[in-house]
Amino acid sequence: MKLLKKFRQGLKDNKKDNNTEFKRRLPLSVLIFMAGLFLSGSLSFLKAGAAAAESRTVETSTGDVFELRYRQLQPGEPLLVLWIRAVSDYAGIFFGESSYWLKNDSRQRQFLVLGLDVMTVPGERVLELELWSGGQLSEKLAVNLNVAARDFPRKKLTVDQKYVTPPREVLARIKRESELLALVYSSSSPDWLAEGPFILPCEGNLYPNFGQQRIYNNVPRSVHTGVDIAVPAGHPIRATNSGRVVLASDLYYSGKTVIIDHGLGLFSSYSHLSKLLARRGEMVKSGQVVGLAGSTGLSTGPHLHWAVRVYEARIDPLSLLELGF
Ligand SMILES: [Zn+2]
Repeated sequence: MKLLKKFRQGLKDNKKDNNTEFKRRLPLSVLIFMAGLFLSGSLSFLKAGAAAAESRTVETSTGDVFELRYRQLQPGEPLLVLWIRAVSDYAGIFFGESSYWLKNDSRQRQFLVLGLDVMTVPGERVLELELWSGGQLSEKLAVNLNVAARDFPRKKLTVDQKYVTPPREVLARIKRESELLALVYSSSSPDWLAEGPFILPCEGNLYPNFGQQRIYNNVPRSVHTGVDIAVPAGHPIRATNSGRVVLASDLYYSGKTVIIDHGLGLFSSYSHLSKLLARRGEMVKSGQVVGLAGSTGLSTGPHLHWAVRVYEARIDPLSLLELGF
C-alpha cells in the first residue's frame, strides 16, 4: 500500500464554545441515549479482551468494498478504513481536512487509520470516497458518520507548584520540547510497521482515565490524554507493537519518554520512565522492553503514562486492544 498524499489529520476543533452550544440544544432523548453510550462504554471496559469493535461495510458500483471499523464513533477514538475488495486502481479518502490515496496493490493490506481527537466536537461528519481507474473518476460517494458526545470525568490533583506555574528559567525548555513533539508527530512511516495485535505495555493497576479533565492545585489545566498504569519503579515497560523509536528523551512534563512510530500516523508513547532502554531511530519488536517505570516529570508516584496518537489526534490507547488489527 502506498499513501501518496497526506495532509492534516484528525478532527481537531478547539472551539469549546461550540461544544457547549451543541450540548445546550440537545433534546432530552438524545441526552438519555448519550448516557446509555457512556454506560455501555464503561461496561465494555469491564469485559476486557472481548471484541468490542463495530464495523460497517460500504459497497460501491465499481465493485470495490470498504470496511469502516471502530469501537465507538466518539471523541478520542480511532477509525479504521479498510479497502477489503480492491477493484479500481486508486481510492481517494477524504475526511475533515485530511486526504489520502490508496493504490491497488495486492501484496499488502490496504487500510488507513483515522483519529477523532479527544476534543472533537460531536455531530455529523462526512467521509468521502473516490474511486479512480485508468485516470478517470469512476465513482464518488459520501458516508455520513455521527460522532456521539462523550462525558469525560474530572479529577483534582495536588502537584509541585513548579509544574502548574513553571519557573521562568524552564519556559524556553518547555517551548523547545513542545516544538520537538509537534515535529515528531508530524511525519510517520508510509508503511505499516506494526505486526499483529496491540498489547498492554505492562501488567498493573490500570486506570481508564483517558480524557479526564485535570484540575491541578485548584486550577483547571489540561485533559489527560492517555491511561495510567500503576507499577513499581523499575518495572519493565514493553512496546505495544513493533515500530521505529522516534523519540527517547527526558522531557519537562512527561519525564523520560519513549515514542514509537507504528506507521500510517499511529504513534504510542511511554512516559515518566526511570530509565530509557531504547534509542531514537531503533526498530523495536512488539513486547520489547523500551524502558523501566518511574516517576520522572509531572507525576505523583511511580506509574506508566501510556498514550496513543494518530498524527495530532489524541486517542484512547485501550481502543487499540479491541480493534482487531
Ligand atoms: Zn497519565
